[in-house]
Amino acid sequence: MADSSADRLAVIHRHLTKDSGDKVAPKVPSSIPKKRQELLRWNGWGYEDSGFVLNNLGTGQHPKYVFTFSGSRYEIASVDLPHFYDWAYATIGIQPERKKDPQGEPNYPEPILNEGFVNGLKNTSMTFSFEGMDRLFRAHGHTLHDIAILRGGQFLRIPDVVVWPECHSHVEELVALASKYNVAVVPIGGGTNVTGAVDCKRDEQRMIVSLDTSQMNQILWIDDGNLVAHVEAGIIGKDLEDRLQKRGYTTGHEPDSYEFSRYLVPSLKQPQLLY
Ligand SMILES: Cc1cc2nc3c(=O)[nH]c(=O)nc-3n(C[C@H](O)[C@H](O)[C@H](O)COP(=O)(O)OP(=O)(O)OC[C@H]3O[C@@H](n4cnc5c(N)ncnc54)[C@H](O)[C@@H]3O)c2cc1C
Repeated sequence: MADSSADRLAVIHRHLTKDSGDKVAPKVPSSIPKKRQELLRWNGWGYEDSGFVLNNLGTGQHPKYVFTFSGSRYEIASVDLPHFYDWAYATIGIQPERKKDPQGEPNYPEPILNEGFVNGLKNTSMTFSFEGMDRLFRAHGHTLHDIAILRGGQFLRIPDVVVWPECHSHVEELVALASKYNVAVVPIGGGTNVTGAVDCKRDEQRMIVSLDTSQMNQILWIDDGNLVAHVEAGIIGKDLEDRLQKRGYTTGHEPDSYEFSRYLVPSLKQPQLLY
């Protein structure tokens, strides 16, 4: 444990100069695939197979609505929630008969392509995609406004390409290429922000690259003495927590979005419960 300022500086120096090959765990894939649409809902929050389902158990003039939760991921899955509908009716005035079905997969804006950048990208070892759904997934956060557009509107500007760097030097290479060809770069983690943080400017004429950090998801090292970990920028909160708990640690931080959002960790903790 570092006691004095000098000790702390020495620890920080040791961390910064540490060989990043000294990993505490082998490379583990993220629990969210690169093609997020294979697991997640493209026009709402969360997993495709998990959500509230409203069943009408009544008849004609006498409807009786009961919510269940689909899938098998959560404790409430496949259980009737007998009081939820009444609560939702009383609290927000839910009206099932006014339910509006969402639109199907939208048309995607044609990507703006910067030839020099695209050729340069093809010469790297990074994977990338021009597919509409990959681009749309990274065009928004998760405000109510974002979800309303997904279900019934259209984003006028979305990223033109999604790139998945796998290490620090990939990011450097990508940013250098973007800089050389005057291409805009928007990093994205889980896309769970509620501030419009990854929105593309409607009138942006430059090519826009979505730099998806999801493949940079390793724990590089853990300093047991100082309860500090060095993790790559794209690790999902839940993946990080699961891996840390195997070693007897926790971040002690569990925001509601942690199954999908990436992480900033203040420090590790060693709760007695974990031993
Ligand atoms: C249902 C729900 C529940 C939530 N619950 C909580 C909560 O309990 N507590 C809480 O604090 N927040 C919560 N949030 C807000 C949100 O989850 C957090 O702000 C989260 O930290 C965003 O992480 P992300 O990986 O999804 O970031 P993104 O949305 O992907 O990105 C956010 C911003 O960071 C930038 N960025 C991403 N990665 C990098 C990088 N490596 N380098 C530089 N810039 C980067 C992006 O360009 C963007 O500007 C919630 C959101 C939702 C929708």
